[in-house]
Amino acid sequence: MQARIAPLFNLKLLAALLVLSGSQAALAAAAAAPPPPVVAKELGKGVYFLEGGGGANAAALIGDDGVLVADAKLDEASAESELAAIRKLTPGNIRFLINTHEHPDHIGGNEMFGKMGAVIIAHDEVRSILAAGQRGGPPAPAVALPVLTFGNEGTLTLHLNGETVEIKHMPAAHTTNNSIVHYVEANVYQLGDIFSGDRYPTLAGGTFQGFIDGVDQVLAEANDSAHFIPGNGPVGDHAALVAYRAMLGSVQSAVTQALDSGQSLEAFLASKPTAATDATYGDPARFLTGVYNQLKGAR
Ligand SMILES: [Zn+2]
Repeated sequence: MQARIAPLFNLKLLAALLVLSGSQAALAAAAAAPPPPVVAKELGKGVYFLEGGGGANAAALIGDDGVLVADAKLDEASAESELAAIRKLTPGNIRFLINTHEHPDHIGGNEMFGKMGAVIIAHDEVRSILAAGQRGGPPAPAVALPVLTFGNEGTLTLHLNGETVEIKHMPAAHTTNNSIVHYVEANVYQLGDIFSGDRYPTLAGGTFQGFIDGVDQVLAEANDSAHFIPGNGPVGDHAALVAYRAMLGSVQSAVTQALDSGQSLEAFLASKPTAATDATYGDPARFLTGVYNQLKGAR
């Protein structure tokens, strides 16, 4: 995900309320409160879901051959928390780090894991964006850059710990370089920010159609007992991904209908077209605005 406006606003609101109540000590504690430490939960055959610590969800494949990490949290502190969770499970070498895309909440530990000797793997574009510096920031140090990169086509396959790990670029959805990691024997798909079971997705350079095409591609091959690790929020089961795909379909229909009838964006949002799914995915305004503008622009 990109940095979200709403939580910052809520934090400011909380701070204001605390000041008003005169509770300066509580305010300081709230401002200084670190995110919860990273916790590892096994999803099957040495594949662990790494939740918490600040930054996006991550995963690790652990076994006798060493450790593969996929996504690396937000910053040094959260990456250290991720490493600590792994170290509770194994002293093994961190051999590979995959970045599912370039956003800061997925690459915070690139430098740390790179210095530990991990081979960083990502789409070609992730390397070029990090090398140039993203969002006006400085270029990433060389040790934090992907050294094994791939393009839009085909599958990069790793064989480690008895597991077949397939890395595939997906259609441009969240970003143009978003990839997924499929841990074949464990039956786990790490979908990055293409999927989330508890919030609407973010268009951050990709296309709405890419979300539909990407999820369809995954659903076409995944069986009913697969687990799906999203970029943020809890791990989803097959029903959760099917429900997410249905939501995308109903948003597509609603936006198409609005554009066909010449409805303004304001009137469209006011009509609450996603009322049936807002309890699951939260505030739809930013997502609906993005989809409306993108589909309108394509006409
Ligand atoms: Zn992202």
